[in-house]
Amino acid sequence: MDKVILIKYGELTTKKGNRNFFIKTLTKNIENKLKNLNIEIEKDLSRMYIHYKEEDELLLINKIHEIFGIHSYHIAYVTNSNIESIKEKLIKTVQLENFKTFKIKVKRSDKSFPKTSVELAPIFGGIVLKNKNNIKVDVNNPDTIIHIEIREKYTYIYYNEYKGLGGYPCGIQGKGLLMLSGGIDSPVAGYLAMKRGIKVEAVYFEAIPHTSLEAREKVITLVNKLKVYSCDIKLHIVPFTKIQEEIYKNVSPNYVITIMRRMMYRIMESLSKKEKAKVIINGESIGQVASQTLSSMYVINNVTNMPVIRPVACLDKLEIIDIAKKIDTYNTSILPYEDCCTVFVPKHPIINPTLEETLKEEAKINYESILKETIDNTFIYKEEKNYENIL
Ligand code: ATP
Ligand code: MG
Repeated sequence: MDKVILIKYGELTTKKGNRNFFIKTLTKNIENKLKNLNIEIEKDLSRMYIHYKEEDELLLINKIHEIFGIHSYHIAYVTNSNIESIKEKLIKTVQLENFKTFKIKVKRSDKSFPKTSVELAPIFGGIVLKNKNNIKVDVNNPDTIIHIEIREKYTYIYYNEYKGLGGYPCGIQGKGLLMLSGGIDSPVAGYLAMKRGIKVEAVYFEAIPHTSLEAREKVITLVNKLKVYSCDIKLHIVPFTKIQEEIYKNVSPNYVITIMRRMMYRIMESLSKKEKAKVIINGESIGQVASQTLSSMYVINNVTNMPVIRPVACLDKLEIIDIAKKIDTYNTSILPYEDCCTVFVPKHPIINPTLEETLKEEAKINYESILKETIDNTFIYKEEKNYENIL
């Protein structure tokens, strides 16, 4: 054993009571993500160590960057926890690294080790200076911080730091259903919800033949892009055509969107109960469109008692776009296929709907049976197989 990837947990170290569960979930997620590689995981309550094959190092560095629940990670050299072994390893490894200025940081979690961190730092610093040319100590702004972590059995020396994604491991918060359109906002909302440990399943409302199969493909691509950060993501497809046509035929044009979105929320609540999801997630952003003013949100949200989280509610569009680019969903989201909401959008959707007027408009349609039929016909997308359901 010469090198390992040393992982520092994200926020989960602060949640003492649940620590074991968090670490177990993170381990499972890492094993799942790296299942095609030959690795071995060792862990304790504050660190995780991944043993790996040298040729996989670069790939591992990239893949670990896609896992929630990790604060930072490091390629660490390993040696036995006695002063002679540590010195020897330090002399060897310092030759392999490229820097001009450095600082030593010693962490001694094995308190039975004969010297304290404060006593050890200058000793190790002296060794580094003696064994590498043209370098000096700089405690304020060094090129490299040489970390030496002395644990009970082994000591870990590392010269690098890779920032993790932070957040909580996927799955520790139970399940949420994400309303996933083909737009920019909802994939970002899904990513942010996953970051808090929610196991997300996606729900896409489609209105074939008013919307195309290309629009569905776009959503499938987005699901695949989000899967990079998750354990797995199921995609539920809701055949929304009938209910939309009914609304369009009977409701005053300016209330079409308000009522359509109330129907979406009703379906989401019903699916959540069926799928045992605890929360609905969507990409609504305050003020972005008529259906996302506070008055609209009040009237639309009124049909459900379920918690609805809107991770991008308070972000500007440019802030949302920044995240979309970072998680590589942006270029897919801007593809020009019509969504069911845009197909039916009236010229003047109401900006300040009232509950009273909404209920009057809604009474014009007999939606109960259509909703039931829609929910019964909702299906989970499985690769190509479902095309015949629709064509
Ligand atoms: P996005 O918000 O994803 O960029 P958008 O702006 O076109 O797409 P809006 O009309 O703003 O969508 O809808 C607000 C939210 O409602 C979306 O973020 C999404 O969560 C949900 N939503 C809208 N249309 C659909 C749909 N066809 N299927 C699933 N969810 C949808
Ligand atoms: Mg939007």
